Amino acid sequence: VAKEAGKGRYQFFNQGMQQRAERTALMHTWLKTALATKQFELLYQPIIEVSTGKVVHAEALIRWYREGETISPLEFIPVAETDGSIVEIGEWVREQGMDLLYHYGSSYGFSLSVNVSTQEIWSHLLQDGLLTSIDRIAARLGDDFPFDQLTLEITESLLMEGHSNLIKAFEQLRAKGCKIAVDDFGTGYSSLSYLNYFPIDQLKIDKSFIRNCQQSPKQQALVNAITKMSHALNLTVVAEGVEDQWQLEFVKSVGIDFVQGYFYAKPLNKKDFIALLEASKSR
Ligand code: C2E
Ligand code: MG
Ligand code: MG
Ligand code: MG
Repeated sequence: VAKEAGKGRYQFFNQGMQQRAERTALMHTWLKTALATKQFELLYQPIIEVSTGKVVHAEALIRWYREGETISPLEFIPVAETDGSIVEIGEWVREQGMDLLYHYGSSYGFSLSVNVSTQEIWSHLLQDGLLTSIDRIAARLGDDFPFDQLTLEITESLLMEGHSNLIKAFEQLRAKGCKIAVDDFGTGYSSLSYLNYFPIDQLKIDKSFIRNCQQSPKQQALVNAITKMSHALNLTVVAEGVEDQWQLEFVKSVGIDFVQGYFYAKPLNKKDFIALLEASKSR
């Protein structure tokens, strides 16, 4: 019986692997035409300043709508990272996001975060640089692009190697005024030593930490310690994934600077995001 069960499981495992490989192969093909046929949309999730309750920031989040199906960035970004299409996708995300920031950022007083994939940064370092891409887009918009209202979100995996070219690239971006945020903080396996040598401005505490807080005093202690450490290092802190009143109150009590989550707002399309800014302005 054990042998049979084992055999069955083995086949099941294989089938799953086969299906995933087929899906990945399809996505590589689909990605080739996705940009040209305008299948992507950029959504904007408000980020609220805890002390004032105001929308002062937003994170740009990509969506892929393909023949009635919505494909999650969690699924397609890793695929796009392996065939190089992430470079064009990243460029498109910055074009859209920077355009919104340029036209609405000063009148509504908000700043914007865009995610930059680790793989894209490595290819850029070998080619013409993330800074060149950002400069090119900014120059097309006008000579007064508000670089100081643009944040780049990177993940811990990028920081593990402490590559000197990487540090140089980020120092140049910061010299322009851009801010650097470490996304999904606490989920990676890197050491904390990068906080010492890597030029960053903000930590975003991953939503998995916030989700388990109410039931777990240990988790609360961790979030508290991360916040205190960040402030001691002059970093601002964002809590991701705040979904209810309890979590909001907790985040406030800990002294976290900004919150992002469904409790306040889901990612919104451009029109709804601007409408929300307009509504909060006249309040
Ligand atoms: P992330 O950068 O950590 O983005 C936050 C994710 O948490 C988003 O998922 C957002 O919709 C979700 N979220 C926000 N508030 C809540 C909440 O209260 N509860 C829950 N359960 N989730 C919440 P999304 O949009 O599915 O994106 C997933 C990941 O895909 C992002 O995680 C980011 O790593 C990547 N991604 C998204 N857009 C882009 C992009 O334009 N470029 C790159 N390179 N990666 C992107
Ligand atoms: Mg992010
Ligand atoms: Mg995040
Ligand atoms: Mg996250």
